[in-house]
Amino acid sequence: MRFNHVLRIAAGALAVAVVATGCGGGSDKTATEHAKDGKLTVGIKYDQPGLGLRNKDGSFSGFDVDVAKYVGEKLGVKPENITFKESPSAQRETLIENGQVDFIVATYSITDKRKEKVDFGGPYYVTGQSLLVRSDNTDITGAESLNGNKKLCSVKGSTPAQNIKDKYAKDVQLQEYDTYSLCVEALKSGSVDALTTDDIILRGFAAQSPGALKVVGAPFTTEKYGIGVKKGDTESRGKINDAIDAMIADGSWKAALEKNFGSTGFTVPAPPTVDRY
Ligand code: GLU
Repeated sequence: MRFNHVLRIAAGALAVAVVATGCGGGSDKTATEHAKDGKLTVGIKYDQPGLGLRNKDGSFSGFDVDVAKYVGEKLGVKPENITFKESPSAQRETLIENGQVDFIVATYSITDKRKEKVDFGGPYYVTGQSLLVRSDNTDITGAESLNGNKKLCSVKGSTPAQNIKDKYAKDVQLQEYDTYSLCVEALKSGSVDALTTDDIILRGFAAQSPGALKVVGAPFTTEKYGIGVKKGDTESRGKINDAIDAMIADGSWKAALEKNFGSTGFTVPAPPTVDRY
Protein backbone atom coordinates (compact mmCIF):
# COMPACT_ATOMS: atom_id res chain seq x y z
CA MET A 1 0.00 0.00 0.00
CA ARG A 2 2.65 2.46 1.11
CA PHE A 3 4.90 1.35 -1.77
CA ASN A 4 2.07 1.89 -4.27
CA HIS A 5 1.54 5.35 -2.89
CA VAL A 6 5.22 6.20 -3.38
CA LEU A 7 5.05 4.85 -6.91
CA ARG A 8 2.04 6.99 -7.68
CA ILE A 9 3.80 10.11 -6.43
CA ALA A 10 6.87 9.23 -8.45
CA ALA A 11 4.78 8.71 -11.58
CA GLY A 12 3.01 12.03 -10.99
CA ALA A 13 6.33 13.83 -10.55
CA LEU A 14 7.62 12.28 -13.74
CA ALA A 15 4.53 13.42 -15.65
CA VAL A 16 5.02 16.99 -14.37
CA ALA A 17 8.70 16.88 -15.36
CA VAL A 18 7.84 15.70 -18.86
CA VAL A 19 5.24 18.46 -19.30
CA ALA A 20 7.65 21.09 -17.95
CA THR A 21 10.40 20.26 -20.39
CA GLY A 22 8.24 19.58 -23.44
CA CYS A 23 8.53 16.49 -25.55
CA GLY A 24 11.87 14.73 -25.95
CA GLY A 25 13.10 15.55 -22.46
CA GLY A 26 14.89 18.72 -23.54
CA SER A 27 14.87 22.20 -22.06
CA ASP A 28 12.77 25.24 -22.91
CA LYS A 29 15.54 27.70 -21.99
CA THR A 30 17.33 29.45 -24.84
CA ALA A 31 21.03 29.03 -25.54
CA THR A 32 21.62 32.50 -24.06
CA GLU A 33 19.75 31.57 -20.87
CA HIS A 34 21.70 28.33 -20.49
CA ALA A 35 24.93 30.20 -21.07
CA LYS A 36 23.99 32.61 -18.26
CA ASP A 37 23.64 29.53 -16.03
CA GLY A 38 27.21 28.68 -17.05
CA LYS A 39 26.66 25.64 -19.24
CA LEU A 40 25.77 24.66 -22.77
CA THR A 41 24.87 21.50 -24.66
CA VAL A 42 26.21 21.57 -28.21
CA GLY A 43 25.46 19.12 -31.01
CA ILE A 44 28.42 17.93 -33.08
CA LYS A 45 29.36 14.94 -35.21
CA TYR A 46 31.32 12.18 -33.44
CA ASP A 47 32.78 10.40 -36.46
CA GLN A 48 34.08 13.04 -38.89
CA PRO A 49 37.87 13.46 -38.59
CA GLY A 50 39.05 17.09 -38.75
CA LEU A 51 35.51 18.37 -38.13
CA GLY A 52 33.75 16.65 -35.25
CA LEU A 53 35.40 13.61 -33.75
CA ARG A 54 35.04 11.80 -30.43
CA ASN A 55 38.52 10.50 -29.68
CA LYS A 56 39.27 7.19 -27.97
CA ASP A 57 40.09 8.99 -24.70
CA GLY A 58 36.65 10.64 -24.72
CA SER A 59 37.92 14.07 -25.79
CA PHE A 60 36.56 15.89 -28.84
CA SER A 61 38.45 17.45 -31.73
CA GLY A 62 37.93 19.12 -35.08
CA PHE A 63 37.09 22.44 -36.67
CA ASP A 64 33.40 22.28 -35.65
CA VAL A 65 34.47 21.53 -32.06
CA ASP A 66 36.82 24.54 -32.12
CA VAL A 67 34.03 26.76 -33.51
CA ALA A 68 31.65 25.47 -30.80
CA LYS A 69 34.19 26.20 -28.04
CA TYR A 70 34.92 29.68 -29.41
CA VAL A 71 31.22 30.54 -29.61
CA GLY A 72 30.70 29.07 -26.13
CA GLU A 73 33.45 31.28 -24.68
CA LYS A 74 31.90 34.36 -26.30
CA LEU A 75 28.58 33.43 -24.66
CA GLY A 76 30.48 33.21 -21.35
CA VAL A 77 30.84 29.42 -21.06
CA LYS A 78 34.19 27.71 -20.51
CA PRO A 79 34.99 24.77 -22.81
CA GLU A 80 34.90 22.33 -19.87
CA ASN A 81 31.29 23.37 -19.22
CA ILE A 82 30.14 22.40 -22.70
CA THR A 83 28.47 19.01 -22.99
CA PHE A 84 28.79 17.68 -26.51
CA LYS A 85 25.97 15.59 -27.93
CA GLU A 86 26.15 13.44 -31.03
CA SER A 87 23.94 14.89 -33.75
CA PRO A 88 23.59 12.60 -36.78
CA SER A 89 22.51 14.36 -39.98
CA ALA A 90 18.90 13.17 -39.92
CA GLN A 91 18.31 14.12 -36.27
CA ARG A 92 19.59 17.70 -36.17
CA GLU A 93 16.32 19.64 -36.59
CA THR A 94 14.58 17.41 -34.02
CA LEU A 95 17.38 17.80 -31.46
CA ILE A 96 17.08 21.58 -31.75
CA GLU A 97 13.27 21.66 -31.79
CA ASN A 98 13.09 19.45 -28.68
CA GLY A 99 15.61 21.54 -26.77
CA GLN A 100 18.03 18.61 -26.40
CA VAL A 101 20.87 20.84 -27.62
CA ASP A 102 21.40 24.61 -27.34
CA PHE A 103 22.94 24.80 -30.77
CA ILE A 104 24.47 22.54 -33.42
CA VAL A 105 27.86 22.87 -35.12
CA ALA A 106 27.93 19.74 -37.26
CA THR A 107 28.73 20.31 -40.96
CA TYR A 108 25.16 21.59 -41.08
CA SER A 109 24.20 23.24 -44.38
CA ILE A 110 21.90 26.25 -44.26
CA THR A 111 18.87 25.46 -46.46
CA ASP A 112 15.44 27.04 -46.88
CA LYS A 113 13.79 23.73 -46.03
CA ARG A 114 15.67 23.44 -42.73
CA LYS A 115 14.95 27.10 -42.01
CA GLU A 116 11.26 26.18 -41.75
CA LYS A 117 12.15 24.33 -38.53
CA VAL A 118 15.33 25.94 -37.16
CA ASP A 119 17.34 29.14 -37.52
CA PHE A 120 21.01 29.42 -38.47
CA GLY A 121 23.91 31.60 -37.41
CA GLY A 122 26.67 31.90 -39.99
CA PRO A 123 27.71 30.71 -42.48
CA TYR A 124 31.08 30.00 -40.86
CA TYR A 125 32.40 27.83 -43.71
CA VAL A 126 31.52 27.18 -47.36
CA THR A 127 32.24 23.89 -49.13
CA GLY A 128 30.56 21.73 -51.78
CA GLN A 129 29.51 18.16 -52.49
CA SER A 130 32.24 15.95 -53.88
CA LEU A 131 33.19 12.25 -54.23
CA LEU A 132 35.48 9.87 -52.33
CA VAL A 133 36.67 6.63 -53.95
CA ARG A 134 39.29 3.94 -53.33
CA SER A 135 42.73 5.06 -54.51
CA ASP A 136 42.85 2.41 -57.23
CA ASN A 137 39.54 3.52 -58.78
CA THR A 138 39.86 5.04 -62.25
CA ASP A 139 36.29 5.18 -63.57
CA ILE A 140 34.83 7.69 -61.10
CA THR A 141 36.42 11.05 -61.73
CA GLY A 142 33.68 13.53 -60.82
CA ALA A 143 29.95 14.22 -60.96
CA GLU A 144 29.95 13.54 -64.73
CA SER A 145 30.87 9.89 -64.04
CA LEU A 146 27.78 9.28 -61.89
CA ASN A 147 26.23 6.79 -64.30
CA GLY A 148 26.21 3.07 -65.06
CA ASN A 149 24.33 2.11 -61.88
CA LYS A 150 27.33 2.55 -59.56
CA LYS A 151 26.76 2.09 -55.83
CA LEU A 152 26.99 5.41 -54.07
CA CYS A 153 26.87 5.84 -50.31
CA SER A 154 25.62 8.91 -48.46
CA VAL A 155 23.81 9.71 -45.23
CA LYS A 156 20.10 9.89 -44.41
CA GLY A 157 18.79 13.43 -43.99
CA SER A 158 21.81 15.04 -45.67
CA THR A 159 21.77 17.53 -48.53
CA PRO A 160 24.16 15.44 -50.71
CA ALA A 161 21.85 12.41 -50.48
CA GLN A 162 18.88 14.60 -51.43
CA ASN A 163 20.81 16.06 -54.36
CA ILE A 164 21.57 12.56 -55.67
CA LYS A 165 17.87 11.62 -55.38
CA ASP A 166 16.87 14.82 -57.20
CA LYS A 167 19.42 14.73 -60.01
CA TYR A 168 21.06 11.29 -60.39
CA ALA A 169 18.40 8.83 -59.18
CA LYS A 170 18.23 7.02 -62.53
CA ASP A 171 22.00 6.85 -62.98
CA VAL A 172 23.28 5.47 -59.66
CA GLN A 173 22.17 3.23 -56.78
CA LEU A 174 22.07 5.41 -53.68
CA GLN A 175 22.63 3.66 -50.35
CA GLU A 176 21.79 5.82 -47.33
CA TYR A 177 23.51 5.07 -44.04
CA ASP A 178 23.20 6.80 -40.66
CA THR A 179 26.76 8.17 -40.59
CA TYR A 180 29.61 8.87 -42.99
CA SER A 181 32.02 6.61 -41.08
CA LEU A 182 29.73 3.67 -41.94
CA CYS A 183 29.94 4.73 -45.61
CA VAL A 184 33.76 4.80 -45.34
CA GLU A 185 33.75 1.22 -44.03
CA ALA A 186 31.49 0.16 -46.91
CA LEU A 187 33.79 1.91 -49.38
CA LYS A 188 36.90 0.24 -47.97
CA SER A 189 35.30 -3.20 -47.97
CA GLY A 190 34.16 -2.78 -51.58
CA SER A 191 30.42 -2.90 -50.92
CA VAL A 192 29.99 0.58 -52.42
CA ASP A 193 31.90 2.30 -55.23
CA ALA A 194 31.96 5.85 -53.87
CA LEU A 195 30.92 8.05 -50.98
CA THR A 196 29.42 11.47 -51.62
CA THR A 197 29.21 14.39 -49.24
CA ASP A 198 30.96 17.71 -48.65
CA ASP A 199 34.52 18.06 -49.89
CA ILE A 200 35.92 19.03 -46.48
CA ILE A 201 34.35 15.97 -44.81
CA LEU A 202 35.81 13.69 -47.50
CA ARG A 203 39.26 15.29 -47.09
CA GLY A 204 39.16 14.46 -43.39
CA PHE A 205 38.40 10.80 -44.15
CA ALA A 206 41.02 10.61 -46.91
CA ALA A 207 43.65 11.99 -44.50
CA GLN A 208 42.69 9.33 -41.94
CA SER A 209 43.37 6.53 -44.45
CA PRO A 210 46.48 7.68 -46.34
CA GLY A 211 47.00 5.88 -49.62
CA ALA A 212 43.65 4.06 -49.44
CA LEU A 213 41.11 6.70 -50.39
CA LYS A 214 41.07 9.78 -52.64
CA VAL A 215 38.76 12.74 -53.27
CA VAL A 216 37.93 13.13 -56.97
CA GLY A 217 36.40 15.85 -59.14
CA ALA A 218 35.42 19.41 -58.40
CA PRO A 219 32.71 20.19 -55.84
CA PHE A 220 29.34 20.25 -57.60
CA THR A 221 27.10 22.02 -55.05
CA THR A 222 27.49 24.89 -52.58
CA GLU A 223 27.14 23.97 -48.91
CA LYS A 224 27.13 26.84 -46.44
CA TYR A 225 27.72 25.62 -42.90
CA GLY A 226 25.55 27.29 -40.29
CA ILE A 227 25.13 26.99 -36.54
CA GLY A 228 21.61 25.68 -35.95
CA VAL A 229 19.58 27.28 -33.15
CA LYS A 230 15.95 27.18 -32.07
CA LYS A 231 13.64 28.91 -34.53
CA GLY A 232 12.84 32.46 -33.45
CA ASP A 233 15.71 32.74 -30.93
CA THR A 234 17.09 35.90 -32.52
CA GLU A 235 19.01 36.87 -29.38
CA SER A 236 21.17 33.70 -29.40
CA ARG A 237 21.51 33.80 -33.19
CA GLY A 238 22.79 37.39 -33.02
CA LYS A 239 25.34 36.47 -30.36
CA ILE A 240 26.47 33.44 -32.35
CA ASN A 241 26.91 35.64 -35.44
CA ASP A 242 28.98 38.12 -33.40
CA ALA A 243 31.15 35.24 -32.19
CA ILE A 244 31.73 33.95 -35.75
CA ASP A 245 32.68 37.47 -36.88
CA ALA A 246 35.13 37.73 -33.97
CA MET A 247 36.61 34.29 -34.67
CA ILE A 248 37.29 35.30 -38.28
CA ALA A 249 38.60 38.78 -37.33
CA ASP A 250 41.08 37.66 -34.63
CA GLY A 251 42.69 34.90 -36.69
CA SER A 252 41.27 31.99 -34.65
CA TRP A 253 39.15 30.82 -37.57
CA LYS A 254 42.12 30.44 -39.90
CA ALA A 255 44.26 28.92 -37.13
CA ALA A 256 41.56 26.33 -36.37
CA LEU A 257 41.36 25.30 -40.04
CA GLU A 258 45.15 25.05 -40.28
CA LYS A 259 45.32 23.00 -37.08
CA ASN A 260 42.68 20.52 -38.25
CA PHE A 261 43.40 20.35 -41.99
CA GLY A 262 46.90 21.79 -42.48
CA SER A 263 48.51 18.38 -42.88
CA THR A 264 46.20 17.45 -45.79
CA GLY A 265 47.70 20.00 -48.21
CA PHE A 266 44.53 22.05 -47.93
CA THR A 267 44.70 25.83 -48.36
CA VAL A 268 42.44 27.88 -46.14
CA PRO A 269 39.84 29.67 -48.29
CA ALA A 270 38.66 33.25 -47.80
CA PRO A 271 36.23 33.37 -44.88
CA PRO A 272 32.49 33.72 -45.60
CA THR A 273 30.38 36.72 -44.65
CA VAL A 274 27.86 36.08 -41.91
CA ASP A 275 24.27 36.38 -43.16
CA ARG A 276 22.24 38.40 -40.65
CA TYR A 277 18.87 37.53 -42.17
N1 GLU B 1 26.42 19.65 -45.20
C1 GLU B 1 25.54 18.57 -45.57
C2 GLU B 1 24.29 18.57 -44.71
O1 GLU B 1 24.13 19.41 -43.87
C3 GLU B 1 26.22 17.22 -45.51
C4 GLU B 1 27.00 16.96 -44.28
C5 GLU B 1 26.22 16.31 -43.19
O2 GLU B 1 25.38 15.44 -43.45
O3 GLU B 1 26.50 16.65 -42.02
O4 GLU B 1 23.41 17.77 -44.89
